[in-house]
Amino acid sequence: MPDRDVDLFVVGAGSGGVRAARIAGSYGARVMIAEEYRVGGTCVIRGCVPKKLLVYASRFADEFEDAAGYGWTVGEPTFDWAKLIANKDREIARLEAAYTTALERADVKLVKGRAVLKDAHTVRLVSTGEEIRTGHILIATGAAPHPGHPIMGIEHVISSNEAFHLTALPKRVLIQGGGYIAVEFAGIFAGLGAEVTLVYRGENILRGFDDDVRAHLRSEMERRGIRIICGRTVAAVEPTQDTFTAKLSDDSLIEVEKVMFATGRRPNVAKLGLEAAGVRLAKNGGIAVDEFSQSSVCNIHAVGDVTNRINLTPVAIREGHAFADTVFGGKSTPIDHSNVPTAVFSEPEVGAIGLTEAQARHRLPKVDIYKTLFRPMKATLGGRDTRSFMKLVVDASNDRVVGCHIVGPEAGEMIQLIGVAVKMRATKADFDAIMAVHPTGAEELVTMREKAVSYERQAAE
Ligand SMILES: Cc1cc2nc3c(=O)[nH]c(=O)nc-3n(C[C@H](O)[C@H](O)[C@H](O)COP(=O)(O)OP(=O)(O)OC[C@H]3O[C@@H](n4cnc5c(N)ncnc54)[C@H](O)[C@@H]3O)c2cc1C
Repeated sequence: MPDRDVDLFVVGAGSGGVRAARIAGSYGARVMIAEEYRVGGTCVIRGCVPKKLLVYASRFADEFEDAAGYGWTVGEPTFDWAKLIANKDREIARLEAAYTTALERADVKLVKGRAVLKDAHTVRLVSTGEEIRTGHILIATGAAPHPGHPIMGIEHVISSNEAFHLTALPKRVLIQGGGYIAVEFAGIFAGLGAEVTLVYRGENILRGFDDDVRAHLRSEMERRGIRIICGRTVAAVEPTQDTFTAKLSDDSLIEVEKVMFATGRRPNVAKLGLEAAGVRLAKNGGIAVDEFSQSSVCNIHAVGDVTNRINLTPVAIREGHAFADTVFGGKSTPIDHSNVPTAVFSEPEVGAIGLTEAQARHRLPKVDIYKTLFRPMKATLGGRDTRSFMKLVVDASNDRVVGCHIVGPEAGEMIQLIGVAVKMRATKADFDAIMAVHPTGAEELVTMREKAVSYERQAAE
């Protein structure tokens, strides 16, 4: 294609797009990237990073409570939401600038504005109408909040996008949803002093996680004063004077200052010109791709949330990097989506990798379960009423640890490291062989001796 302007055009400068553009640039490709909102994408601008900063802010409440038990006299703490948001925004702006600089250093040309596909080799910049001829296209447009079925008053409902920019901390909040974003924001608002009600249509929060984790997190959240209502939905939201009244599917009414929906996210595939280019979608609404992130059109790839595989930042980054290695680096690099560790920054935190107990029982003939429940040492002197929970799921036919599930302080940090062992196919005997680090919470993971339960599938089952 001698008439092309660039070798690679990346649509979307989020986690996956930025990594792919930089790596392709480092291989000598001429790369252009378009971003319609802010460089850094969801994770940096209105996802993982600002969320974790708010989580940190919310956790000081427990610290103040614990401090008294350790001899500290802490005056009546006061909290300034506006200051937190301003400081958070400053940090996000710094990160956005760092991402932009990283693109410049890799000789990637950044265009601010929306880009759409005209055909398999042409991208159109919407604001100027300019058309760019390119050898390859990478679609990395991410996903956006989806409010679910339309209800009366939906215009009064915010999503996580707006939650990061509220001008004041609401005193009473209703959050609809049971996924990780819903439980994380419930913990944030509650930790900062709001009265929180979580409404979820399913039978329990955190669908897809281990059942014991779901039950334990729910009881811990309720212990912290979060009201959790399962099996119901928000049917309507009506503005009252300074508040909103949410009507639930059982006709009960809840009055709050803010209603937030965290009811799922949908891949950003609309009005992108995918049909014109011949790019097919998968049943889950994402762009259909193979293990090399190649779409149904051979020179068009897609990575990250727009493919709706595992919607996490490190996965998008790895997919973007592997794409650049494969297409521009001469290193064919498929992505392995098995055993991806994950954390939920709820209060307390959740860390998980591998099979849940139910999945293991379904897939494996023999399963051993180890679990423990204990009070974190730091909570003892202050008398804070909380428990940590840990579970190991073991394939009893070969002793391999095939799942690990943690609820408690630093669960995210722990699961990152346990993930190495699980990915390396460590056995329960390997876990037992390592000396414990004492006194830590993590030592409980390597000192579980008694099986809580064993399952063996009968031949006829
Ligand atoms: C509240 C929240 C908390 C989260 N917390 C975590 C967490 O703790 N850990 C974790 O791993 N993941 C977390 N995630 C998920 C994570 O943010 C995403 O998985 C990740 O950002 C996906 O990266 P991506 O490159 O696919 O898309 P994105 O980062 O969303 O980037 C896509 C970019 O494309 C741009 N774009 C879209 N269409 C166009 C177009 N036509 N032209 C130009 N630009 C376009 C968008 O503006 C956006 O900047 C969280 C998400 C949310 C919403």
